[in-house]
Amino acid sequence: MSFAVFFWISDIGFRRSIEATVNDASRTNLETIQRLLQSKAESGNDKIRHELRELSDLWANGALFEVADGNGDWIFRSPRFMLAKTPLPAVQDRRITFFTTNLDSFQYRIALQRVDLAGKRYEIHAAVPTEPFDQALDHFRSIEQETLPVLVLLASFLGYWLSGRSLAPVNRIIETAKSIGVQSLSRRLELPRAQDELRRLTETLNAMLERIEKSVARITQFTADASHDLRTPVAVIRATAEITLRRRRTDSEYRAALSKVLETSEETSELIENLLTLARADAGAVSMDMRTLDLAKHVLKAKERGAVLSAEKTLDVTARTPPKPVWIEADAIAIDRLLLILVDNAVKYTPTGGRCEIELSREGEQAQIRVRDTGIGISMNDLPSIFERFVRADSTRSRETRGAGLGLAIARWITEMHGGTIVAESEIGVGSVFRVSFPALREHRNAIDLNEMPPAASRI
Ligand code: ADP
Repeated sequence: MSFAVFFWISDIGFRRSIEATVNDASRTNLETIQRLLQSKAESGNDKIRHELRELSDLWANGALFEVADGNGDWIFRSPRFMLAKTPLPAVQDRRITFFTTNLDSFQYRIALQRVDLAGKRYEIHAAVPTEPFDQALDHFRSIEQETLPVLVLLASFLGYWLSGRSLAPVNRIIETAKSIGVQSLSRRLELPRAQDELRRLTETLNAMLERIEKSVARITQFTADASHDLRTPVAVIRATAEITLRRRRTDSEYRAALSKVLETSEETSELIENLLTLARADAGAVSMDMRTLDLAKHVLKAKERGAVLSAEKTLDVTARTPPKPVWIEADAIAIDRLLLILVDNAVKYTPTGGRCEIELSREGEQAQIRVRDTGIGISMNDLPSIFERFVRADSTRSRETRGAGLGLAIARWITEMHGGTIVAESEIGVGSVFRVSFPALREHRNAIDLNEMPPAASRI
């Protein structure tokens, strides 16, 4: 198609240039005759006729001409002019008129002009045969016709070869991509050598594969850890029941066994609840009910719960809040859960006689909560990973404390859902501080009273 267009345009161009050449040739002849007339105007028509005949004999290239004087009488005519197929057009003053017609059976391009030379008027017609030019055009067209199919064939082969070459890397990518499944997520697409769009696409796909691989690894790890953590309490419940049922027991033995079963089931429920929360968080299926609330009330509530939790240990649980309310935009249930996780940990990991302090303050644009304890502390080694799922510090694992290492992961998720940050500082044997910061509101906007809140359902 593009070849046909190319040839069509070339044909037009060639025709135009031939036309211009023919016009130039007839114009040049016209000017030669003019010069002759100019020089011989004084000598009379006979002399002029004689000169023109000589000129006509000189022109061996088939050019013809005729010249008439001011009265329209012919001074000289090449005989073929008399055999013109169509009458020549009327000549306009001064301007050269071009006209194509047959003289005898040959085609000519004729330049016609009326001129005033040395006070006399002449009309000159100079004709140039178009045949040589037509032949050149025909020759050009036959070359076109012969080369077009060859060129089209060549171009098709070249196109086929080139597309095969350029599609080879795409095919390789398709083949590799087909072979990648969940079991072979570590495979990567081969990078094409050229620094082009395809290479960028491959790099992007590889980066995507990397992200998918990490996510799948996380999910697999999560499932494995969760199954492991669920198996332990179920095994405890089962073993307790089996051992108890082996023979007749006293009332108090039955009581003890049932208490153990109850306690373990409660822990299992809590674990399942935490697992569900994180699964929902991963799925993005949790919507926070954001309202304006006074953080101080929630801190005091957490302190009350801490006091209940630490009843057996005689810990000193205190809370310090500023005199003015500290307003934040938050989900009340989520905030309670976050504070409970931190206070529960502080109580859990602080030995009898220790202290746990919850402090709320407003620092600039931030509302800050510090949960400080004088507990067992966390080593520098463990500190960076305690917010990861299923991570428990070395100091804890050896002890008989309940927990699956999910609390702080949930705490971090809740904090981040509120645009806040959570960090921990700790020293083994001295204690730990967990610091949570939230963006604070300047003032109360339709704040709700906590007591009017619905009971803390398991929304998150
Ligand atoms: P867990 O259910 O084990 O308490 P968390 O995610 O709440 O899980 O905490 C992760 C680990 O961080 C705990 O196992 C414990 O080793 C450590 N940790 C958390 N809070 C404290 C604390 N206040 N004092 C000492 N260690 C803590």
